Amino acid sequence: MKPCNACGKCCTKYGGGGLSATPDEIENWKEYRPDIYHFVANDEIWTDPETGVVMESCPFLYQDSTGRRHLCKIYDQRPEDCRLYPSSVDEMIQDDCEMIELKDRRNPRQAAKDLAALMADSRPS
Ligand code: SF4
Ligand code: SF4
Repeated sequence: MKPCNACGKCCTKYGGGGLSATPDEIENWKEYRPDIYHFVANDEIWTDPETGVVMESCPFLYQDSTGRRHLCKIYDQRPEDCRLYPSSVDEMIQDDCEMIELKDRRNPRQAAKDLAALMADSRPS
């Protein structure tokens, strides 16, 4: 399994209406990060500040100057939903995640162990 190359497929797929935030996250943004809370309405993320409608793409996703890497403007404050991605090898294969290598497809059990090691800091203990 390769490290994440910031291809952006996951954020593109899930950043538009496929994410949720916990009540604690929303409360924290409300108090300390109004720039993030700006895109929350009725406990839903991410919503258009003008209309309250869920947006078709994440407002915090941007491309670096090369256009090849897709980065998160709120990386340290991103929702748990984003922190926990990727959650399984099946999900990665389904999403065409570029961390997946041929050997991972051939040996998903080992790939799951490799993923667990890579995500050790992100997943709840
Ligand atoms: S908040 Fe950040 S990590 Fe989450 S979908 Fe948007 S750009 Fe991606
Ligand atoms: S799809 Fe996979 S490789 Fe691409 S940004 Fe998401 S985690 Fe990284």
